[in-house]
Amino acid sequence: MTFRQDHLLGIEPLAPDEITSILDLADDYVALSRSPDKHVETLRGLTQINMFFENSTRTQASFELAGKRLGADVMNMGLAASSIKKGETLIDTAMTLNAMQPDLLVVRHPHSGAVDLLAQKVNCAVLNAGDGRHEHPTQALLDALTIRRKKGRLHRLSIAICGDIAHSRVARSNLILLGKMENRLRLVGPPTLMPAGINELGCEVYEDMAEGLRDVDVVMMLRLQKERMDGGFIPSEREYHHLYGLDADKLSHASPDAIVMHPGPMNRGVEIDGTLADDINRSVIQEQVEMGVAVRMAAMDLLARNLRDRRAAA
Ligand code: ASP
Repeated sequence: MTFRQDHLLGIEPLAPDEITSILDLADDYVALSRSPDKHVETLRGLTQINMFFENSTRTQASFELAGKRLGADVMNMGLAASSIKKGETLIDTAMTLNAMQPDLLVVRHPHSGAVDLLAQKVNCAVLNAGDGRHEHPTQALLDALTIRRKKGRLHRLSIAICGDIAHSRVARSNLILLGKMENRLRLVGPPTLMPAGINELGCEVYEDMAEGLRDVDVVMMLRLQKERMDGGFIPSEREYHHLYGLDADKLSHASPDAIVMHPGPMNRGVEIDGTLADDINRSVIQEQVEMGVAVRMAAMDLLARNLRDRRAAA
């Protein structure tokens, strides 16, 4: 296993061999999670605190289950509702929790860069569970594991990422990861939802779904991030669905065995047609959720190994 990191703050700092190590270990944790006894003692004695300053359903549940399957003591802090309202700063909250001697801090925050800042202040391993529109590394890793298992490889695939790219940390982390693994990347969506500096990303950019999806192996849909939009980015949801909502007709332009992905939560009838999302022959959305637990187990296991080594050497 090659994994040299103290924290998992983003995909950007990871080398391809480190990404492969996480995915290889995650494959073992998929097998464990499918077995009758899903519990191991890998993180026994360690405390994991989940600090979610922004709402989450699947990511928080997934991290909680991952920690419990590995034998850690897991605590969830619903911070959007508590100290934040009393005006405590991010760093104060982190220092308070740090004083409780956690070993793994899983943090989601609405501001880009907040999790990096926090990692500089605490003396445990920090995992970014999504910061603003910056990164969501475990989402990109679970997407990579899903693709690798479905397609048998994670390189030289043609992958279209579609929809609200500008506001999406999922798109950012995926672009970085899939680029590092040498795939052909396409971005498809209206120009209003494309990020600034798009031409430097080294992707092909399409405004038209039929052209953008032509012969691709993977179609990755994104949620319209309405909470991050401060103006009118689309004429109407109905119009958006007509032009960019993935349905069987638009998918027919992709390779016949192309898989359909979505990080959730889905806006059915907006960026994706509900029937297609549920079509188990094309959609791998449920597999993505399953892979999420395994990838988070692998990431926490590898970080805990490094943490124990660092503490032993101190
Ligand atoms: N769940 C993902 C995130 O937290 C995707 C989304 O919300 O659309 O970024």
